[in-house]
Amino acid sequence: LEKKIAILEGRMPQKYPDVKFLGYKERKRILVTGGAGFVGSHLVDVLMMQGHEVIVVDNFFTGRKRNVEHWFGHRNFEMIHHDIVNPLYVEADEIYHLASPASPPHYMQNPVKTIKTNTLGTINMLGLARRVGARILIASTSEVYGDPMVHPQPESYWGHVNPIGPRACYDEGKRVAETLAYSYAKQEKVDVRVARIFNTYGPRMHVSDGRVVSNFIMQALQNLTITVYGNGKQTRSFCYVSDLVDGLLTLMASSYTLPVNLGNPVEHTIEEFAMIIKNLVPGCRSTVSTGAAVEDDPQRRRPDIAISLQVGLQRTIDYFREELSRTTFLNNQ
Ligand code: NAD
Ligand code: UDP
Ligand code: UDP
Repeated sequence: LEKKIAILEGRMPQKYPDVKFLGYKERKRILVTGGAGFVGSHLVDVLMMQGHEVIVVDNFFTGRKRNVEHWFGHRNFEMIHHDIVNPLYVEADEIYHLASPASPPHYMQNPVKTIKTNTLGTINMLGLARRVGARILIASTSEVYGDPMVHPQPESYWGHVNPIGPRACYDEGKRVAETLAYSYAKQEKVDVRVARIFNTYGPRMHVSDGRVVSNFIMQALQNLTITVYGNGKQTRSFCYVSDLVDGLLTLMASSYTLPVNLGNPVEHTIEEFAMIIKNLVPGCRSTVSTGAAVEDDPQRRRPDIAISLQVGLQRTIDYFREELSRTTFLNNQ
């Protein structure tokens, strides 16, 4: 493991200095759906470093083998190429259910599939949790609040979602996933945790992910126009991925069963955010354009953190710079 960690140091955004290798009795078999994705792969790193047995289930729709390939061959690691819309029979003590596209362009690309993944997929994982008696954490989203009428959003807010708009496949899919979780908890005594994740960023986001952080950084690094959608007055709060992973682990370990917001409470307009990124990329000559607003775009969103936006973005920019030079290198081959 020491050797693995040493290899990882080059690739990992975060050295996770606080990760403790657990004693034999504390180790579990943990299933991570969507474990080859952005958030999932960071979670897998911490779980592996703690000494757990980890099973990743992913259909590679938006995830990549590359995100977890440093664990291939490790005796505690297993990767299953599987679509969770279909039943899955494995054994586990805990389940982190993260499988679902998360970026608006990705989840809108095949809305029916997004709904199936979040409904049928979640039923299958809850069925699995029921059969094996595992605790299950569902990755929900701040999108359950829709374009919120209450600001900032407490967990008690029921949301303001357009059920037939372009974001509905994801928003309503996640709302049903939450409903399913609490129905299984009530009816079948399944032990559930629900994390409402707010915008998260960091290395291993896909370069063509389409979310604002990856778009703006890739544009800034290539001196392309930074594309603000709408007037840029809409806000988001951005959480660094290692803080989110801490939150997921803490929630899983806690006895709190109601939904929990996980995110960064510092709010920025998208216009400000474009300037923050531009200023963090030395010599950036990008201009910032405003354009047509996105339909149903939530106008405001905000939910304690360890990594400041400046430090987190710096690490993320370094990662994208490396990705860009890698793809440029590959294209020139
Ligand atoms: P991601 O797209 O990088 O990862 C999702 C993973 O799920 C990918 O590896 C993908 O291949 C896999 N997947 C999708 N559909 C699947 C299916 N049917 N069967 C098996 N695997 C499937 O996204 P992410 O940012 O890592 O998001 C992870 C989870 O967190 C998602 O559930 C997302 O809704 C939630 N979330 C993320 C954010 C964020 O800002 N990153 C915010 C709110 C909620
Ligand atoms: N399921 C699964 N893995 C399991 C157990 C169940 O994928 O280990 C699926 C199963 O195919 C079913 C769903 O989970 O479609 C819900 O299971 P549950 O036991 O709640 O309901 P039922 O089997 O009665 O439909
Ligand atoms: N956005 C933007 N330019 C981009 C991508 C996104 O202005 O190139 C805006 C988008 O309209 C939204 C915010 O940035 O207001 C966050 O978008 P993202 O897709 O990252 O996530 P969301 O919070 O909407 O799920």
